Amino acid sequence: MLLKLHKLCGRHERWLSTSLAARQSFRKWYQQLWTTKRTNLPPYEHFTQIGDPVLRDRAAEVPADCVNSKEIHAIVDQMVHVLRKFDCVGIAAPQIGVSLRIIAMEFRRSIKKDLSDATYKRRQMSELPLTVLINPQLTVTNYTKHKHPEGCMSVRGFSAEVERYEGVKLSGLDRQGVHSELELSGWNARIAQHEMEHLDGKLYTDHMDRSTFMCTCWEAVNTKSGRVEIPFYK
Ligand SMILES: [Zn+2]
Repeated sequence: MLLKLHKLCGRHERWLSTSLAARQSFRKWYQQLWTTKRTNLPPYEHFTQIGDPVLRDRAAEVPADCVNSKEIHAIVDQMVHVLRKFDCVGIAAPQIGVSLRIIAMEFRRSIKKDLSDATYKRRQMSELPLTVLINPQLTVTNYTKHKHPEGCMSVRGFSAEVERYEGVKLSGLDRQGVHSELELSGWNARIAQHEMEHLDGKLYTDHMDRSTFMCTCWEAVNTKSGRVEIPFYK
């Protein structure tokens, strides 16, 4: 086997001596054969899943002089892209594999069409324009607790009831590095609490009502004789 490889390399080396570009592409191909390193690196275009250590780390503050940098802008752009691609309402940077304290939230009008008026009202849902916060801080402004079903794109295919405070205040830096503050209530306060937990390596499954934990497609599993797939891509 070793001999065969030497032969292969020798042949390629002769061929490569004629072209620098070809040599570089060979090196890349060769390294890929022998490296155990992952080739798909963050920021991902998918959601990291429970079990990934990045979801359990305490995310690092973005250094003040990096907030308005092209690197952080690229991470924020990718977060917004993934948030909208998967049609969800909140995302934290660890969910695309980046252990930094950045969250993005958006409750679009289009989400309402998938919910009954009664559900929309009971869960105190309302529209929220795209909100990006870097190094956010949360304070509770209304300690009344509400329990509603909640899901997480990093625990794909499941949901459970979770208690959350009714009102919160969020402060942090926007994507230009300008201090920003906003008060949220109802479902939007829930989104904020959920995303903030991601920055501290916590998931809703850590404090959910365990008796309500369920597979969101359990009925389809029965009607389709188990032929149901939960996609992790879109
Ligand atoms: Zn989540």
